[in-house]
Amino acid sequence: MIGAGAAGLSAGLTLARARRSTLLVDAGRPSNLVATGLGGLLGYDRRPPSEFYDTARAEVAAYPSVDLWAGDIVRAARHDDSTYAVTLADGRRETARTVVLAPGMDYRFPDVPGLAERWGSAAFHCPFCHGWEVRDQSLGVLAAGPVGVHGALNLRAWSDRITLLTNGAELTAEQRGLLTVGGVGWDQRPVAGLIGPGAGLQAVAFTDGADLAVTALLVKSTLYQRSTLARDLGATLTAPDEMLSVQAITVDAMGRTGIPGLFAAGDAATAVPPSMAAAVASGHLAGAGAAVHTAAGY
Ligand SMILES: Cc1cc2nc3c(=O)[nH]c(=O)nc-3n(C[C@H](O)[C@H](O)[C@H](O)COP(=O)(O)OP(=O)(O)OC[C@H]3O[C@@H](n4cnc5c(N)ncnc54)[C@H](O)[C@@H]3O)c2cc1C
Repeated sequence: MIGAGAAGLSAGLTLARARRSTLLVDAGRPSNLVATGLGGLLGYDRRPPSEFYDTARAEVAAYPSVDLWAGDIVRAARHDDSTYAVTLADGRRETARTVVLAPGMDYRFPDVPGLAERWGSAAFHCPFCHGWEVRDQSLGVLAAGPVGVHGALNLRAWSDRITLLTNGAELTAEQRGLLTVGGVGWDQRPVAGLIGPGAGLQAVAFTDGADLAVTALLVKSTLYQRSTLARDLGATLTAPDEMLSVQAITVDAMGRTGIPGLFAAGDAATAVPPSMAAAVASGHLAGAGAAVHTAAGY
């Protein structure tokens, strides 16, 4: 298992219960660890993400056929005999008949001063994860183009005080019409930064010196692979575009990449809005797929 966040741990649990000798290697940086709470994962709703990871790791580690290593896999290769070899940053090596890629994704967001400090609290990328916590507040949406318009209109379920901030990009007449009908405001001025104490937000500052009071900001982010491992192993990747903001590994419903013995799960293989629930589900299916693969003796 390359990565043991929600998807890797879920795949690991499935393989452990199938009595497969399984090594999970994890660099310890699940993408939502910075978030103040976990929204929308049944059984863990609104609890700290660390509680989920501690419990899940303990559950997986309780099975005798599983090893969990802390570390960073920096190289992976498939040999002619269909085995895989991985190398960790500290020089450790391991071979495997099957690999599940579950390394999560690199969420990239606009380079706006003050955004990184508020990422996972006042600045969020997914209304289903964090919209409830900021309901009925004065909300900004930092995004341009059709994604921005769509994101702002969608956010009306959580608040009726929404402003789309295009950060210097021009809206079309049609887009302005949609926003007007939807009761959503907009501001096209370039954003200079976010204002507020600590991880809190009081206002968005514009480069002309003015500011707009908002207390939370939905930010469009684009998800990229965290390393070249998927590509190195021959997996196919989607190309991010304006609407599909994800460079995902192409897989079937059981996490098969099309390369024998290579599976992928979680954010890294999700071309739809990412979530913990989806990561757990896809990890389970990829784990089952990997177990079947080894049982069939491929
Ligand atoms: C700020 C933020 C808040 C979020 N909040 C929510 C929320 O409230 N509710 C919700 O449902 N979803 C939320 N999400 C989305 C959710 O966190 C992801 O969908 C989910 O974590 C994906 O799980 P994953 O296992 O695929 O990846 P991750 O959780 O990112 O785990 C991948 C693991 O693999 C490790 N790894 C990566 N590369 C390597 C390597 N080469 N070698 C070894 N290990 C490696 C990483 O360090 C990490 O530990 C949030 C996302 C972000 C960014």
